[in-house]
Amino acid sequence: MINFLDLKSVNTPVHDELVDACKRVIESGWYIGGRELATFEAAFADYCGSKYCIGVANGLDALVLTLRAWIAMGRLQEGDEVIVPANTYIASILAISENRLTPVLVEPDVNSFNLCPVNARKAITSKTRAILPVHLYGQLANMPELLTLAAEYDLLVLEDSAQSHGASISGRKAGSWGHASGFSFYPGKNLGALGDAGAITTDDVELADTLRALRNYGSHEKYKNLYRGVNSRLDEIQAAMLSVKLKYLDAQTQHRRSIAELYLNEINNPLITLPCTSGCAAVAYENHVWHLFVVRTALRDELKAHLASQGVETLIHYPIPPHRQPAYSEWYERSYPVSEKMHLEVISLPMGPSLSLKDARRVVEACNSFSGTAGRE
Ligand SMILES: *Cc1c(COP(=O)(O)O)cnc(C)c1O
Repeated sequence: MINFLDLKSVNTPVHDELVDACKRVIESGWYIGGRELATFEAAFADYCGSKYCIGVANGLDALVLTLRAWIAMGRLQEGDEVIVPANTYIASILAISENRLTPVLVEPDVNSFNLCPVNARKAITSKTRAILPVHLYGQLANMPELLTLAAEYDLLVLEDSAQSHGASISGRKAGSWGHASGFSFYPGKNLGALGDAGAITTDDVELADTLRALRNYGSHEKYKNLYRGVNSRLDEIQAAMLSVKLKYLDAQTQHRRSIAELYLNEINNPLITLPCTSGCAAVAYENHVWHLFVVRTALRDELKAHLASQGVETLIHYPIPPHRQPAYSEWYERSYPVSEKMHLEVISLPMGPSLSLKDARRVVEACNSFSGTAGRE
């Protein structure tokens, strides 16, 4: 079986370095908020081209706490509208509603699956205060146009960069476009910890300070609580794991790109639509780090069954759009046809730093031998 993503084989090549880093932390006797965190924060800020990085417990908290910080700083208030793509992973939307801000769902661009600047502009009202572009599947949203729009309406921009570590446009990376950016280091992400972890990058010193307090009970100084904060800290062990893995991120991204290139060049089946083919302005090499390789087909169940019969594991990102989730039952009646169609048609092929090109060729063959009849015979 060719696994969708084999996490053990992702970490095995750096096993010894991870163990050494872990030992270093154990022997230091210092497990929260120490040198490992500061080292990783500095390295990741530098990697993204941002001034500050604030480690937190996970990617959802990175988004939740940034919006909360802007509320604490008086830049947002309850009821303000935040524009977000309708087809995102639900975390982006949860971060908005968690802060009693109003998520305004916008249909994505049909080629890139990302927030569409034209649709975003149409969704702006007198209450719009922020936009939350999501670099879905590893591809940067159209940040140049979104920043122009944000400047025109004086909107805050929070990037959801959970899937796009290292993706860039004109040399400017995910995490350095918005006023702030949330990252996840969930183990399966392009930069993955060995547990939960997340971070915010920003150039705004006031935001960075506020976030450092919010993640730690709202406190800059022990036993003095400026805000009603939370406990959302990135611990020393995970920070140490991330410092090891950050060194290999670019090489792993190169490998993901080789697999993507193979898929793009060699999957040749009229029943399968490859990502970002004709009519997509955003195909540039650097702007995609291929967190996921997502194809579309009207015969998704049949393709999934066919690939499984050929020993190829696939996943669906994502099967149900946020507005059709019980968590947001007040949105059931709404209609986002582009997003709904995507959720019915998308299927993710195996992709990752440990997938061999040989196995990727078998995935290609399995896709090319799909005739649309599997599961119906
Ligand atoms: C993974 C992910 C998150 C949340 O990250 P966690 O670390 O799992 O909390 C948020 N947004 C997107 C787009 C993601 O893919």
